[in-house]
Formats: sequence, C-alpha cells, structure tokens
Amino acid sequence: MRALLATAVPLLLLLSGCGGDADAPKADRMPTSPTPGQPSAGDPDGVAPRDTPRPGEPGTTGPSPGQPPKPELPAADVDAMRAAVRHLAVRVGPRHATSPAFREAASWFGAEMRRLGYTVTEETFRVPAGDSWGVPVTAGRSLNVIADPPGFDPSQPHLVVGAHLDTVAVSPGAEDNASGVAVVRELARLAADHGTRLPVRFVAFGAEEPRGPGDDLHHFGSQHRVGRMAPAERAAVRGMISLDRVGVRAPYVPVCDGGTGDGRVVRALVDAAGGIPTNTCEDRASDHWSYEKADVPAARLGSIPYAGYHAEGDRPEVVDDLQLRRVATVAWRWIR
Ligand SMILES: [Zn+2]
Repeated sequence: MRALLATAVPLLLLLSGCGGDADAPKADRMPTSPTPGQPSAGDPDGVAPRDTPRPGEPGTTGPSPGQPPKPELPAADVDAMRAAVRHLAVRVGPRHATSPAFREAASWFGAEMRRLGYTVTEETFRVPAGDSWGVPVTAGRSLNVIADPPGFDPSQPHLVVGAHLDTVAVSPGAEDNASGVAVVRELARLAADHGTRLPVRFVAFGAEEPRGPGDDLHHFGSQHRVGRMAPAERAAVRGMISLDRVGVRAPYVPVCDGGTGDGRVVRALVDAAGGIPTNTCEDRASDHWSYEKADVPAARLGSIPYAGYHAEGDRPEVVDDLQLRRVATVAWRWIR
C-alpha cells in the first residue's frame, strides 16, 4: 500500500491544486515539508508523538524494551470521528445551507458541544437564492454555531478552529465536510479534557458552499462571522484554521493558505506536524479565506481530490481513518 501511494504522489500533486471547490486558484507553491509518502522511521502511521525515544535506544531515557513508548499527547479517538461522519452523512444526509437538514445538523453540533462543556451560541444570516452545484436553491437563513470554553473573552488572545457544516444540495457530504466537523468535535473534546495553550473558540460554519460564481457567493457564514468581529477581536485571534475535506487518504496532510498574509499559521502547522508529512499550497476555497482577507492569520487543513466530490458518492467509505487521525493530530499539536 505504501508503495502504491508513493507512486501516486506525483499524480496527486498534479491533480490536487488544494481546493477543488469553486474558484479554486491553482497551487503555485511547491511542497516545502517532508517528502510525501515517507513517514519517519519508527512512525509507520506518521502520528507517533514527536521526540519520543524508541524503546531501548542507546543514549535515550525511553522506556525499557517491551514497554510501549509513553505518548506525549492524548490521542484523537478515531471511532468517535467516524461516528460523527456517519451521523452527518448517513442519518442527516445532504444539508445545503438553508435546508431543514442543515438545521438538524446544527442542532446536533450544538448539543455535542454543550455536552462537552462549551457555551454555545448561534448566529443567523441571510443566504441568497442561487445554484448549489447545479441545483437551484431558494434564499433563506443559515447559521453559524459557536462553541466557547467557560469564561471565554474574545478580546483576549485565542485561537479559532472551524469547519463548515453545510453541503451542496445533492451530496451527503461525508468528506465535504462531515470529516472536518468530526475533527473539530474531537479537538473540542481533547481541549476540554486536557487544556490548550490558548483558549480555543470552535465554530461550525453555515453556507460555505457556493451559490454562484465569484468570491462573494460562497463562505457566507465565515464572511458574516468576520464582519461581526470588532477590531480588538480580530487582533486577538492568534490563528484560525479551517478543517475542510480532511479524510481522503493521501500520503500527506495539505496545509494551505490564501497567500496574502505572512504564512505564520501554515508554518506553525507544518512545524506542529512533526513526523506527519505535509504539503503546503495556495488555497482560497474555504472559510480561512474570509479571515485572511480581514488580516487575521489563518490556514486550511485538507483538500485532497476524490471521485465523490460534490456528488452523491461522497459517502463515509471515502473517509479514511488514518488520514482523519493524522489531521486531528496536526491540529491538536497546534492548539495544544
Ligand atoms: Zn468544503
């Protein structure tokens, strides 16, 4: 399998462009991180904790042979992420931004976050009628679901971790974007259980998917969110990441931004990835772009091309456990 994936890398790099969404610009930055398809030795999954000495290695103080290495960080729960993907893609199904199914998905996400101890608020906004990837959709209201840790103050330094909850009209959206929402939910659990370096605001965005061409007719939820942030709040966001299409198997994790800022979040994520291979690229096709346009440092994780994109075939089978775990691990190391 490793050999097969390694051979597929040049093809994937050619095809990916990091953002098969509408208006996706071409990738024009070359990979800067470890060679794709080559997880570090002793780290077959690419998700072993960094700096963990191998058992019995001379000159280290690692555990003695026979004992498993002690994890540096608590790990993401793949079963929980997979269950969230199934819930959204199979039980809820297609959920375009102004549909009853989207509201159901938003209620589910809010309830999950409340259960984890977060303070949940919803903000609604208008979305115009338009064309949802070939299907006419009427105007209506969509919403963002915002989950804050107890005592959260948006004027103080914090991080924002988000994923869009909507799909295009026909797609069950397992990869696009139940995968991202599942990772957000899991990161929220890890953050609640183990703490983070800065307070983290988690957001499920409504209406990311396009309703027409151009840079105004998509990303409605994140554009609304950014528009409501006072200058002090924008300055307080130390970094925002959008998890969008993060579960299709690839030998690396895409780490991208729109290319207009100083790239600090991309660099920090690549750094946080440790032994997990990453590829950087330019990508303006997800909610991080709304933040970047407002001069808030931001980046996107995810965007591997796949056959079921924006179609009925976007089912849980396209989402890979290992890829979910890698992405969750990169993000977790970044917020931790
Ligand atoms: Zn998406």
